[in-house]
Amino acid sequence: MEEAAGCGLCGVKVMCRFRPLNESERSRGDKDIPKFNGEDTVVVAGKPYVFDRVLAPDSEQVQVYDSCAKQIVKDVLGGYNGTIFAYGQTASGKTHTMEGSLHSPRLMGIIPRISQDIFDHIYAMDENLEFHIKVSYFEIYLDKIRDLLDVSKTNLAVHEDKNRVPFVKGCTERFVSSPNEVMDVIDEGKANRHVAVTSQYCYYYCYY
Ligand code: ADP
Ligand code: MG
Repeated sequence: MEEAAGCGLCGVKVMCRFRPLNESERSRGDKDIPKFNGEDTVVVAGKPYVFDRVLAPDSEQVQVYDSCAKQIVKDVLGGYNGTIFAYGQTASGKTHTMEGSLHSPRLMGIIPRISQDIFDHIYAMDENLEFHIKVSYFEIYLDKIRDLLDVSKTNLAVHEDKNRVPFVKGCTERFVSSPNEVMDVIDEGKANRHVAVTSQYCYYYCYY
């Protein structure tokens, strides 16, 4: 396969974030076992594991955003597709990383920071250009796609458009014109999530 020279867009990057032990883990005597070595290596039981980036428990949300998401947003704004996917067992920190505290400048996670970056980019552009930004919010629960912005849509199908790009057919799309409006849509959809601890979630942004 031919590589797109130097563009950095041709691969998947894997970042590994560790959260701090919580109160109950500490009180039952759990110990911090992983040791961190440089920016990309974690050592567990003497064995090194190398990722594109490792984020130790003391990492701030802004560091996570800058090292894991900022470049993807830049690439998306340059016309490429980008996906950020959080994977991990329950209570490992996916929601904290992706959403965090939506309305706190320090504790907000990746999604609110992406919204801010996208709108900053648009505000900086020629004012004669018009952008339409739509947000959808759905969860996959027991293999079924549920629309979190319209709970009557409980089993939506994935289709492909004429460019073979997958999309969720019939999913509600909300037009948004500021980062705050994105947060409002997320707040609204969160209230409709099925089982908060086990559901998965996806967001996507369209822009023209
Ligand atoms: P998940 O979505 O993977 O099930 P959560 O994001 O809900 O897990 O995290 C579980 C708990 O741990 C939450 O109370 C969350 O606030 C806390 N937590 C997760 N990551 C961190 C972190 N990096 N720093 C501090 N607290 C965290
Ligand atoms: Mg979660």
